[in-house]
Amino acid sequence: MNKLKKITSLCLLSLLIFFQNCAERNNLATANESGGMAKESKPELYYSKVDFHSVKKFNTHVHINIFDSTLIKQATSDNFRLLTVNVASPSSLPIDKQQEVALRLVKAFPENISYATTISVDNFNAPDWQQETLDYLKASFEKGAIAVKVWKNIGMDLKDKNGKFVMIDNPAFDPIIDSIEKNNITLIGHLGEPRNAWLPVDQMTVSGDKKYFAAHPQYHMFLHPEYPSYEDQLNARDRMLEKHPNIRFVGAHLGSLEWNVDELAKRLDRFPNMAVDMAERISHFQYQAVSDWKRVHDFFIKYQDRLIYATDEGVRVQSNPAEVSKLAHENWLRHWAFFTSSEKMKVPKVEKEFNGLKLPKHVVDKIYLKNAEKWFPTITKTNKA
Ligand SMILES: [Zn+2]
Repeated sequence: MNKLKKITSLCLLSLLIFFQNCAERNNLATANESGGMAKESKPELYYSKVDFHSVKKFNTHVHINIFDSTLIKQATSDNFRLLTVNVASPSSLPIDKQQEVALRLVKAFPENISYATTISVDNFNAPDWQQETLDYLKASFEKGAIAVKVWKNIGMDLKDKNGKFVMIDNPAFDPIIDSIEKNNITLIGHLGEPRNAWLPVDQMTVSGDKKYFAAHPQYHMFLHPEYPSYEDQLNARDRMLEKHPNIRFVGAHLGSLEWNVDELAKRLDRFPNMAVDMAERISHFQYQAVSDWKRVHDFFIKYQDRLIYATDEGVRVQSNPAEVSKLAHENWLRHWAFFTSSEKMKVPKVEKEFNGLKLPKHVVDKIYLKNAEKWFPTITKTNKA
């Protein structure tokens, strides 16, 4: 009888210890879960429309070609610092004149604007072109240029002595790109065109492209099948990046991969030193958001360190600076609404309605500010000009 009692109490004791252990383990699990949950449920913060003016921002792609402060003043009142980009386009001033204007602006508004220089390929086939170009860049860097832009004339206009198109992976550019890299300067590449350029106007996706290519038939590649293809342009750019893996590269206009966020994602995965500016291509994100909002939203979350806000306004000899600034301000407000709110929107360049992306505050801060500072590391340093 005594023995039976002993066994029963031993069993009870074991059971007690077993249940206690289970309870402790459960408590631990609950604590862990609630800890995890607390982390996940920490509310995401968002900006609203009224924050537009108070949040510090960059716009890393505008072209101010005359000594006029109207756009800079508008930008400053909207809390933007600008990067004005010299470009070797036949419709702009000669590049040394553009640089002169940029330097005067930087000197007058050192807190509000920086500049990117560019290269001329006018004498590309002359024996001293390379040295001339290296000298021009050296002088630009000494004057305070923070980036160098190469333009679509390389790939779409420039020809070698044999009449063959010269692409950006041509070895003649290698010492120039090396020098940009060595000086810790960013290379901005507007290479190729939006994919729409290879389509008939009525098949293009956004009305901005329809208008541009109808007005600039020389760049409407659908009309010029003898020119390098869209893929040729991207492949040359990619081969250049393969040759120069350490160059800090910003693909202007979403790196000419504006039409599909998945295609852009592939290039960003392949080239870790590549970011893209959004200049004049935000409508392509909006166009994709009409049919696949989530894909666009998730792309911004995943590539939040590689996307730089920019818009491509131009103040040229023939422009009315007040008009440019008014349109710019309206455009910038629409973009802010697209990135920060979830409201249903309609914009001039996209036919159908779409919803704003409502990106969290920390992502908005990256695309408007931190990424510009990261990819153009000297953008806020005192200008030497
Ligand atoms: Zn531009």
